Amino acid sequence: MTFSLHGIGASKGIAIGKAHIVTRGLIEVPEYTLEKSAVEKEVRRFRKAIAGARSDLGAIKNQIPPDTAIDIAAFIDTHLLMLDDPAITKAPIKLIREEQRNAEWALKVQRDALVSVFEAMNDTYLRTRKDDIDHVVNSVQMRLLHSDKPVLRADASYSGKIVFADDLTPADTVLMQHQGVAALVTEFGGPNSHTAILARSLRIPAVVGLHNAGSYLRENDALIVDGRQGVVLVDPDEQMVRHYKKLQRQIERIHVARRKLRYAPTVTADGETIVLQANVELPADLDAAVQAGAQGVGLYRTEYLFMNREKPPDEEEQYQAYAELGRAGEGAPVTIRTLDLGADKQVDGSRPGAPLTSNPALGLRAVRLCLKEPGLFRPQLRAILRASAHSPVRMMIPMLSTMSELAQVLDHVASCRKELDEEGQLFDKLMPIGAMIEVPAAAICADIFARELDFLSIGTNDLIQYTIAIDRVDDEVNYLYDPLHPAVLRLIQMTIQAGRKMGIPVAMCGEMAGDARYTRLLLGMGLKEFSVHPNALLEVKQVITESRVEESRKFTQRVMRVIKSTTRTALLEEMNRI
Ligand code: PEP
Ligand code: MG
Repeated sequence: MTFSLHGIGASKGIAIGKAHIVTRGLIEVPEYTLEKSAVEKEVRRFRKAIAGARSDLGAIKNQIPPDTAIDIAAFIDTHLLMLDDPAITKAPIKLIREEQRNAEWALKVQRDALVSVFEAMNDTYLRTRKDDIDHVVNSVQMRLLHSDKPVLRADASYSGKIVFADDLTPADTVLMQHQGVAALVTEFGGPNSHTAILARSLRIPAVVGLHNAGSYLRENDALIVDGRQGVVLVDPDEQMVRHYKKLQRQIERIHVARRKLRYAPTVTADGETIVLQANVELPADLDAAVQAGAQGVGLYRTEYLFMNREKPPDEEEQYQAYAELGRAGEGAPVTIRTLDLGADKQVDGSRPGAPLTSNPALGLRAVRLCLKEPGLFRPQLRAILRASAHSPVRMMIPMLSTMSELAQVLDHVASCRKELDEEGQLFDKLMPIGAMIEVPAAAICADIFARELDFLSIGTNDLIQYTIAIDRVDDEVNYLYDPLHPAVLRLIQMTIQAGRKMGIPVAMCGEMAGDARYTRLLLGMGLKEFSVHPNALLEVKQVITESRVEESRKFTQRVMRVIKSTTRTALLEEMNRI
């Protein structure tokens, strides 16, 4: 009997094949007390399990196909680094010794403590980093429970199959891609998990969050996975198979055409040149950006350098990281955003003892925190300035909301320049300084900010949150999160116009810029610079090259006049069809 299961489309694409069920199962962690004399033996067992997990990951890293689009080794390296982190390697040993309990229990206690810190974070990306902790901890738990066996082994039975699992680690995903899986379907996991990101980058169709699907699927069931719609069809009839095979061929043709766009100029069909850059979280992401043909980095989120460590990186470490990023950019500009930490995005060691606030998104974050803590801010400013000596670097201030904040930042920059001059350190005296427009106050006053700045970049993720007054990570109000809300569109347009009036470039680096459904609308508003996730780059580029700005402008005006949201969406769809 044919039926469909609905989850979240995590990686576009269609696969037709047979189900292969992989149950990793929840790990049952035993708990027992040790004799005093057995404690050091237990510590040795724990250390051996860590070493085993490390060698498992190392083996997987060696199996990564050389032609994969993004630096997957960097994902594995992140997990290998976590296996060197005292929070995983030392804290459980302390617990084993202090509590005289077994290693599995100690590791679980430490895992729960680490995860609760991540879960408290008000940021989807960071909250999904909890998955990394789980994946790493599980790999050690599996070693503890199954002694010397490697956790993952090469298995030909995956080839051409649609793998269904409760959850998958990035390492599993790499291995399965190597073994030629057709698609991945999981009961758990969100669209922002590393596994989902990897699946997208490896172009493996994937549907996640298919709760309870395990009760319906059997080994070798015939399946169709539609990663665009987040649907899995079980036991499809012939007509369905024919329909999806046709769709598969169409998608393949689209990909082939897009790959050719990699080195093509980003120019609209009516000759308007557009700048298309990439958003980067870790320096390693730059490889993916270069592969996709990005014209530089429009947003480098520096806060990731400050995560998972007790002390913030000093000026020298930051300088090395920023200079390396600039070098990897091969002459293209790199936009380094100053720290967007605080309140909701705490890192170890930052502001110990700071009170918890009831509205963290409205609290002491980003530039507000930096101005309050010059000891944190100034080394970063100096490091960014020093990196500008070697390659084109731009500095970008997040969450600016008042002119006084801007004046204070510019004062700090001026005094850092003076210090560096006196020390004989090199830097680009004309390094552009810009700001993110992500608070409605800044959008409304964009013309005033534009007088003092070299560029603006619209951060729609926060701009939508603050304009519609909805917490961007709260599922309960997610239905209100609408980039097409007239208030949002008006603020975007005001910002673009302010930049034009003051003669400075305006970019967009929020998620809206990377969603190809909005590309024409944004072109119609006069946006000329987009900064998007590397995976979204070629799709956005394709829409740009197929669009006519003048035509888009007329449609955009109509979209902005419409009051009813369903009519607005319908008009947008019509605009995207032309
Ligand atoms: C934004 O707010 O749109 C943005 C790009 O910044 P972040 O998502 O890092 O807050
Ligand atoms: Mg933001």
